[in-house]
Amino acid sequence: MIFRTRFAPSPTGPLHLGHAYSALLAHDLARTYSGQFFLRMDDIDQSRARGHWAEQIKDDLTWLGITWDGPVWSQNARSDNYTKALRRLWDLGLLYPCGCSRADIKAAANAPQEGAPVLGPDGVVYPGTCRHIPKGTFQTDTPLRLNIKKALQIIDLQSIILTEGDEIYQRTAPQMIESIGDVVLLRKNIGTSYHLSIVIDDADQGITDVIRGKDLREATFIHILLQKILELHTPKYFHHPLIRDENGKRLAKRDDARAISKYRDEGLTRNDIRSKVGLDAKTLAT
Ligand code: GLU
Repeated sequence: MIFRTRFAPSPTGPLHLGHAYSALLAHDLARTYSGQFFLRMDDIDQSRARGHWAEQIKDDLTWLGITWDGPVWSQNARSDNYTKALRRLWDLGLLYPCGCSRADIKAAANAPQEGAPVLGPDGVVYPGTCRHIPKGTFQTDTPLRLNIKKALQIIDLQSIILTEGDEIYQRTAPQMIESIGDVVLLRKNIGTSYHLSIVIDDADQGITDVIRGKDLREATFIHILLQKILELHTPKYFHHPLIRDENGKRLAKRDDARAISKYRDEGLTRNDIRSKVGLDAKTLAT
């Protein structure tokens, strides 16, 4: 099987050192294994995605020496594929509409009978307020949540094991219910969600290896669960360490001081960026 990986930035701000590390790592591996490296814009949230950021991302990647195979995918053009998957999950009885606001969720999760609120990959774990309300028909106007307990039950999944090199990470079904909960798979005005679209895109692009930051490891358990329910291939996952600033804080999009474009303007070379993120310049794929 040919090695296929991808870099999927959201065009909502400049690329910083953390993105450069992720993209270079995935790209170098693809070139080393004579595989393919794809570029995808995670632009489902049209209220935040901007065409000029997508252009700058491509420009920065090219400057870093990164080339991608085939056309750049835009999630915004793929909504039919996401709706099809949502429809299938709905027909399996695994989705329910939920109009709770963030404030509603916080208030419900803080209710004394709930104990301390649990933080999952998407923030406070949803306490299930709307889970038992009668559902009506499939629609895409109200957010839809995955009933995780039911999802685990219908495929009789007792646990998910994630292997990364010598490391093994496991989440049992009760742990997933407790620490991930009923995640949103269709967000308001967006028609999909990060979890759903990334899983569908990885499958449609035949991705064999996902290389991304450690901050997404917990979300990977949702992705594997969705792949199992939708009968999609599960790629290999590698979650790399995060690049942090001198105070140990994770870099954010708005952290313009570490934007690649800024380093470029200051006269740094692509090899300087490589050494900043700890990638040996010798491994530079030309
Ligand atoms: N747009 C996501 C991010 O930049 C992609 C994550 C992924 O590679 O799955 O965090």
